[in-house]
Parts: sequence; C-alpha cells; structure tokens
Amino acid sequence: MRALVYRGNGELALEDRPVPVLRDEKDAIVEVTLTTICSSDIHIRRGAVPRAVPGTILGHEFVGRVVQIGNAVKKVKPGDRVAVNVETFCGECFFCRRGYVNNCTDAHGGWALGCRIDGGQAEYVRIPFADNGLTVIPDSVTDEQALFVGDILSTGFWAARIGEISPADTVAVIGAGPTGLCTMLCARLYTPARIIAVDTDEFRLNLALARGLADVGLVPGRDDIEGAIRKLTQGRGADTVLEVAGGADTFQTAWKIARPNAVVVVVAMYEEAQPLPLPEMYGKNLIFKTGGVDGCYCQEIMDLIACGKLNTDFLITHRCGLDQILDAYEIFEKKKDHVIKFAVRP
Ligand SMILES: [Zn+2]
Ligand SMILES: [Zn+2]
Repeated sequence: MRALVYRGNGELALEDRPVPVLRDEKDAIVEVTLTTICSSDIHIRRGAVPRAVPGTILGHEFVGRVVQIGNAVKKVKPGDRVAVNVETFCGECFFCRRGYVNNCTDAHGGWALGCRIDGGQAEYVRIPFADNGLTVIPDSVTDEQALFVGDILSTGFWAARIGEISPADTVAVIGAGPTGLCTMLCARLYTPARIIAVDTDEFRLNLALARGLADVGLVPGRDDIEGAIRKLTQGRGADTVLEVAGGADTFQTAWKIARPNAVVVVVAMYEEAQPLPLPEMYGKNLIFKTGGVDGCYCQEIMDLIACGKLNTDFLITHRCGLDQILDAYEIFEKKKDHVIKFAVRP
C-alpha cells in the first residue's frame, strides 16, 4: 500500500509499505477513506516533536472503514465507518479512569498514531485499543463532516470544556487557523456573549466572522488588542482565553488580555520555551491550563455533528489524492492559496 513516511531530518516520502495486520486482540485494521494533514505533522517534519520516530507513517486525523477486528473488540465490526481518535488509550490505567487519556500509561498511550506508531496517511492502518480509538459514523454524517472529530475538533471541544465558559461570558481565541476555528465552534456551545478572534491572517479572521464563529476580529499590529478587549468588557479583560496560535508572542497576549481570575487555556504547541513573567502577573490570580488534548469526547462530538450543532464542512478548502500529498504538505505548511484544510483520499 502507499503511505507517507517521516524519514527524519525534515524528510517526508511516499513509500510502498505492507498492509498492517492485527497484533493484539484489541486491535482493528481500518481502511482509510479520507485523511488530512495537521500542523502537528509539520512540527514533526521540522524536528519539533522529539518523541516522533523516523520511519513512522504519518497521519493522526482520518476516517475509514473497519476491515478486520481482534477477538476482544466489541464496539465496532467490519464494515463500520469510523472516525479515529488521535490518542491511543487503554481505558484502564490511573489517568484513563479519570478521563486524562493524553497521559495514558500504556506503552502506546497518548499521541502515538502517526508519531510513534504508523498512522493514517496511508491506505490502511492498525488501530490499537480499537474500542477506545474508534467512533462509529452514523449514515447521516459524511466522511468530510467526520474528518476532524478525532483531532482538531477534539482539541477545540476539550479546550472549550476546560475553559469553564459561562453563558454571556467574553471568550478570546488567539489563532484562527483550523484548530482555532474548531475551538470557536465549540466555545459557541457554551453561549458566550461574544467570541473575540485574534490572528495576523485577515483572511482567516474574516472567515471566522463570516461563518459566525467570532463576533469581533482583531489583528495584532493593526489593532490595540488589549485595549479593544478591555473596551468590550468594561475594562475587565476576557473571562476565558483560549491560546491556539503558538506564535512568538501569543502566550504574552493570552495572559495580558485575560481578566483577573480568568482561565487561560494554552492549546498551542510551541516550538520554543515561553517566559512566564510572574512579577507582572502578580495579583491577577490567573488559572493556566496547558495542552494537550484529552481526546475522549469523540462520541459527544459525533452526536453534535449528527444533530447539526457542529459543522466543520467549510474547513475543507482543498482536496487531492494520496499521490499528491507531498504537494499538499507544501501548500499547507506555507498557507498558500488560503488553504485551511486538505481532504486527502487514499
Ligand atoms: Zn493534529
Ligand atoms: Zn490508560
């Protein structure tokens, strides 16, 4: 089968690989029907993910059809259309039992797919702990609608959930990229008074405004971000800040625009350390919550898509086959042609 492999040292290549086989009674083999590229794949390519293993097939955001299951798999059966969770988790360890599946202590627990074990930018993939990692897609939901359930929608859903958003709050979301847009969509579920989107990319901000995800769009450099947010909140600052950008100074913006006692959720994956100027924030009594996602709400997300409360159709701006995926990486990484997300068909 064809597969996109991370070879290390910034190199990616399409290779012919054997079709994976079951290795454990909790495994399933899934035929990938639609896959995509995530900014985390770009982080791997750049060497910013130390745990990524060279030789691994990339891809942790995809949907498919179950073709084979191990003896212990109960939830899914061959023929089921499924969304795949970015995280592998046993469901039984200390962290899994508390819902902190990102820190599952199994050898393959956490973000393993397309990082430490072969992922889904390929025709077939082996999914460990299939009962936890797969969510059945109902007939009324298309592959494109379900494509982001396991990764960026899970991230947005988790971020909004731990952001402790109350009705009529002011929520600031830094970053209007694919994950930022998903985060705004999920923050909407909590009926805030307004969502303020901050991004340097005006095209993406306008998309957030046009789709009704954000009420106000602010551009660093063009707008006084802190001042504008204070003006909208009687001088207080945002009740919840969701930092999804991971830029050079976005963490500083995040805590500055937060009101005292706000929750600041740091979703972003930085490539460099960030200063934490505690003397300057003293008295602000902020609550920081840091990434990464505990991706164990895929069923809730699927239900919200099925009933029309979440719709990420518009994120797919580009489509191609697996053979064109290297070109797709180039376009996605450089944000050419106003790309938001690719849908790649193996
Ligand atoms: Zn991802
Ligand atoms: Zn576990």
